Amino acid sequence: MFHHGGGGTKVPVPKISLIVAVGLIIPVATYTAFQLAQSSENERLLRSIYRRQLDSILFSVNQYCWDTFNTWATELAALARSLEQADRVWPGVRTVRRFLHGKPPLAAAFVQNTKDVFMLAAAGQFASIQRPPLRRFVVATLSERKSAWNRAVRQARAGYVRPLVERLDVDHTVLLFPVLDADTRASVVATCGFVIDDQRFVDDVVARKLNAMNTGEFIFAVSDRSRDHLLYASEDFEGNRFETSESLWILPDLRLQIRLRGTTLEQLSRARTRRNLLLLGAVNAILVLALIFLLRTVAHEMTLARMKTSFVANVSHELRTPLSLIRMYAETLELGRVPDEAKRRRYYRSIVSESSRLTQLINNILDFSRIESRQKRYKFAELDLGEVVERVVNSYRFHLDQNGFKVDVRVRRPLPPVVADPEAVEQALVNLLDNAVKFSSDRREISVEVKAERERVNVSVTDRGIGIPESEHEKIFEEFYRVGDDLVHNTRGSGLGLALVKHIMKVHRGSVKVRSRVGEGSTFTLEFPVA
Ligand code: ADP
Repeated sequence: MFHHGGGGTKVPVPKISLIVAVGLIIPVATYTAFQLAQSSENERLLRSIYRRQLDSILFSVNQYCWDTFNTWATELAALARSLEQADRVWPGVRTVRRFLHGKPPLAAAFVQNTKDVFMLAAAGQFASIQRPPLRRFVVATLSERKSAWNRAVRQARAGYVRPLVERLDVDHTVLLFPVLDADTRASVVATCGFVIDDQRFVDDVVARKLNAMNTGEFIFAVSDRSRDHLLYASEDFEGNRFETSESLWILPDLRLQIRLRGTTLEQLSRARTRRNLLLLGAVNAILVLALIFLLRTVAHEMTLARMKTSFVANVSHELRTPLSLIRMYAETLELGRVPDEAKRRRYYRSIVSESSRLTQLINNILDFSRIESRQKRYKFAELDLGEVVERVVNSYRFHLDQNGFKVDVRVRRPLPPVVADPEAVEQALVNLLDNAVKFSSDRREISVEVKAERERVNVSVTDRGIGIPESEHEKIFEEFYRVGDDLVHNTRGSGLGLALVKHIMKVHRGSVKVRSRVGEGSTFTLEFPVA
């Protein structure tokens, strides 16, 4: 007998799945890794671009403050040179006072020449400060910070004005710088100084520049780091996290701070990262779904291909066996070697029954291909199902008797008529009977019952055969499907019978049901709706 199935002939679905999976997963994983790397790279780039932008703003503010100081220093230095020879305080003070005019950030300015004349002019509030304490402060600073002062002198000779910076009190800073003689630039002709009002300097110089540069994207602040005091903020802000901060070159105790408005660089880049990751996740999910779908399709196609191969093998076998029987009987009869009349009759009947089996098989296949190509046409008419069933069983009885089957037909009248194609009903019934015969072993009993039930007429075929496991109850109706145990494979079949039955019942707006237990038998029921 033809035996089909088993591990050897199976197309290796898992292996192909593996190839597909690897073929897809590797690119997906690579792409994901690349995207992740790329996105963190992008974040870094974005952050550094922003940071550079912030830095450059701070830099130009600093530059501007420095320039302002330089302008003042140059102007005062010129005055100091003109006062080099002064030996009285008064006219010099007047000159310095004129210099001070219109420079609100300067609380005071002074010149001390080589003749030790200390010419001081002070503005507003600061005017109340007396000359002597400031002079003492200057003298003390110069002697305490000798090396810093010498450095300032050296730098002045090289052409730079670098002041010596010393805090006077919480609100004021003193800037001291040397003035060299105009010709040789060798000797110090005067010591000059500004007393800077920190708050006014911030308001009039720093803040003005910051505001000029503000495009609305940033928040600026200036604070005094020596006492953690906020001197200026471009607007109210929450928290005190600033992306970038920098000391003011000219007043190192003051700190310039800048940050993005409403958000921080951190938040900005985190939001971007999150968006990118979400997108990436979505793309990956789609790819994985596509992969699963693909694998399932491939597996399904391969199973179908396997079943078709087995179908061809089964059908060829099914054709060959009856054909060779028919030929054998016919040849024997032709030779006239069968003298016994009873034996002859048996041969004839065998020929008839085998050829009708062939017809049925070919009908199944033809119908199936017609259904597949949607060319199958049905001729519906009002029928009495009881009559049809009796006719079919009677014409099949010889075959059943020959195989030792006891058949019990019960038609429970009255039956309402149904609308059906008689040929199709016949074919469905023959397929069920044929299966009942094929899948019975010791107990050769078949019962066929027709009865009305609510809005339906049911035709059921029951056998006491090998039965069908619960898990296969749905699959047996698929085309080419045959239960995979040896008992089934040792019987002939195409796997098309039940698929056809199912199709026929669908066309009749009815259905086919199975009830079965392994080892006890099966009942297939055709349910037709009442006309
Ligand atoms: P075939 O009978 O040609 O194999 P069918 O579509 O008619 O194909 O049946 C599909 C499968 O269902 C059979 O191969 C068999 O495994 C199972 N089957 C059908 N009818 C019965 C039955 N009466 N008893 C046990 N198994 C059955």
